Amino acid sequence: MLVKAIVLVVVALLFAARAWSGGFSGNVSLSPAEVFQGGVVRITVLGEEVAEVSGFLTDRSIAFFPEAGGSYWALLGVDLEHKRGRLAITIRGRGKGKEPWDRSLLLRVKEKAFPREELTVPPSFDRIDEATRKRIEREQAALDWLWALATPRRLWEGGFLRPVSGGVTSPFGLRRIINGYSRSPHGGVDLKASLGSEIRAANHGQVVLRDDFYFSGKSIVLDHGAGLYTMYFHLSDFAVEKDVVVRKGDVIGRAGMSGRVTGPHLHWGARLNGARVDPHELLEAGNARP
Ligand SMILES: [Zn+2]
Repeated sequence: MLVKAIVLVVVALLFAARAWSGGFSGNVSLSPAEVFQGGVVRITVLGEEVAEVSGFLTDRSIAFFPEAGGSYWALLGVDLEHKRGRLAITIRGRGKGKEPWDRSLLLRVKEKAFPREELTVPPSFDRIDEATRKRIEREQAALDWLWALATPRRLWEGGFLRPVSGGVTSPFGLRRIINGYSRSPHGGVDLKASLGSEIRAANHGQVVLRDDFYFSGKSIVLDHGAGLYTMYFHLSDFAVEKDVVVRKGDVIGRAGMSGRVTGPHLHWGARLNGARVDPHELLEAGNARP
């Protein structure tokens, strides 16, 4: 019964996609065609008659950029806790002097076997007083407010750089179980960085947050535009002021152990269209070109 219903839905979607295409003869491709939780997908729209393209998820828009040769491209992030299954994407375009068209796509999201770590700590380790709880909520709200915004202009160019040369000490998506309770998964990667070592901007962007937070310590968030952000936590020092625009490779701060950490390292994170993605996905020059 369920299978039958799914088949009917798929057939209906296929018909709908054809009906909406409004004579569009272009080609929409996803690379990779299937994605793991926390991954990044490149969407390319090719076609001579394409003059304008936009994209939508259920609750967000996807920014498309024109490329030489008349094609358009976008990067789409899939959150590390996105449920496995299909992610519906709508692409809307307008041809030169033609009717607008809509394309509906279903991206397959695959479950990733993130590593797990079980820890036992004294209960006092976790005790948080009311004032601290309020502070944590305020800081969380400040970050969530950033992710909800998508500066329309894209500042980043080409592939992203690693902000420090050190290797991964705690992987992206790590599930921590502390005293038997699951915590929120690790939303970034921890990179080895000695106290005071230079931290570089992974790409061009604007410093939209420069603050000292309870968990993340001295923190910097760069807005690369078009809904893409990278973050740098637990610094010992800032090397930039808030609101300035930095270039790829500029030193933005120095590594440290501020916030709730046990030793110096850099926590490096990325958000794309609100989704927590593995920042390593941005290193692929192919993903973030031109
Ligand atoms: Zn971390």
